[in-house]
Amino acid sequence: MFYIKRVTTAFLWTSLLFFFPNFLPAADYISVVDKGKGASIATIKTIEAGRYHYVSVEELARALSFQVHSDSRKKQIELQLLDNTVRLTAFSPFIKINSRLVQIPISVLYRNGTFYIPLEFFIPLLSDLSLPVEYSREHREIYFGSRNENLVSVEIIDLDNGTLARIQGQTLFKRSNIFTSDSNDWFYIDFYGGKVDTSGTFDIVNKSNFIYNVIPIQLSEETCRLSFQYRGRIKERQVSIDEKQRQVIISLRTREKISDSLLDELEKERQKWEIDTIVIDPGHGGKDPGAIGRAGTYEKYIVFEIARELKKQLQRNLNAKVILTRDRDRFVPLRQRTKFANEMGGKLFVSIHADANRVRSVNGFTVYFMGPAKTEQAREVAQFENSVIRFEESQDPYASISDLSFILGANAQNAYNKESQDLAALIERELSLHCDMKSHGVRQAGFYVLHGASMPNVLIETGYISNYRDERKLQEKNYQKNIALAICNGILHFKRRYESL
Ligand SMILES: [Zn+2]
Repeated sequence: MFYIKRVTTAFLWTSLLFFFPNFLPAADYISVVDKGKGASIATIKTIEAGRYHYVSVEELARALSFQVHSDSRKKQIELQLLDNTVRLTAFSPFIKINSRLVQIPISVLYRNGTFYIPLEFFIPLLSDLSLPVEYSREHREIYFGSRNENLVSVEIIDLDNGTLARIQGQTLFKRSNIFTSDSNDWFYIDFYGGKVDTSGTFDIVNKSNFIYNVIPIQLSEETCRLSFQYRGRIKERQVSIDEKQRQVIISLRTREKISDSLLDELEKERQKWEIDTIVIDPGHGGKDPGAIGRAGTYEKYIVFEIARELKKQLQRNLNAKVILTRDRDRFVPLRQRTKFANEMGGKLFVSIHADANRVRSVNGFTVYFMGPAKTEQAREVAQFENSVIRFEESQDPYASISDLSFILGANAQNAYNKESQDLAALIERELSLHCDMKSHGVRQAGFYVLHGASMPNVLIETGYISNYRDERKLQEKNYQKNIALAICNGILHFKRRYESL
């Protein structure tokens, strides 16, 4: 009811404007805000008529840097918006968008060679074309999304045998620049050359029950990621491109009973790899001493001794090549460590550390795998270990990885999350059995050093160097041997478990 009344009023106003061209309601201004910059980039004069805000089409096009062309003879004006052509005709409520004709509730106005269009109706039409533009009547602002973004929205629906996600691009993505991965109930799509807004303008229309969470992340300058959290199981995934619509279509087959056993087979096949190369990472080194004990013990020396002993044990008990990330007391940047492990074809990555705590009485060992920290303490430990990047010449590679995005990114990159967790549990059990020290169990936290390892990976805090008793133990040659033996046993169990699958 209200709607009809509004349109009637509008009709009266437009009639007034048409029949009495000298009659002009009060002019006002509206600003165009660039969302990327968070600043106003232009102001446009608006004419309020019958509750609606009209603007000059030319002025609007100028502010949004769209191309415009008018034909005074036909009384038509044409806007070129990326690949879309929008044509308006004076005094007509019909707007031609590409080959489609749409009707808005009131007509386009035309006075002295200038076309006027009501923002309330026109801006939503542009958003429908996936142009990053919005209008707030209340704030008297037009928001213009950063032109940088080339992924603007996703729509997810459930079908009979799966789920379909349509991702709207502003540019056409090549199939070869799209990567998908799947880990721990998260499905990831990485777009090389992708730019996404993470502040909330990325439009998510989720009608799916299978996917219940969608997070857009800009992973780096050139890569962005859409993370989908789901319940259930993805049996097959397929990526296709709709060139005409500039859409990336992801189909996830989630409900098909016949191939269950086959997929189980494939899963086992995937997990069955030979653990023939193990990379041991003694933490810190060189200018980075790590934690410093009460009696002056340096973490870097202790962990190096344990790592060396572990290498010896592994070589004795396992048929595998064992490599250390540093063979002496030298500084190695965190990133270098997993990069090196990847290059060496490592199948397991074990980083060895010793903890410190302000509270001297805190003692015991902890085995970590990569994941969002669940406790404040786990977060603090990760923070301390991560802080050694201050010793590195360039901290830029880590600048883009922070908090949630870092961990989500790491989780995805780390397809071995489940295996890492298993490895951590097996090592923890052995340490509990063979080492006379309190266990803090298996925990998860976001460690930079584990970021980027393409293999199951864990980080072991072998004890608290800040605790007098732990420090003394960690210094003992025999105790170091015990730790190494326990870790070696854990790895042995892991190797047996996975290779027998
Ligand atoms: Zn450390």
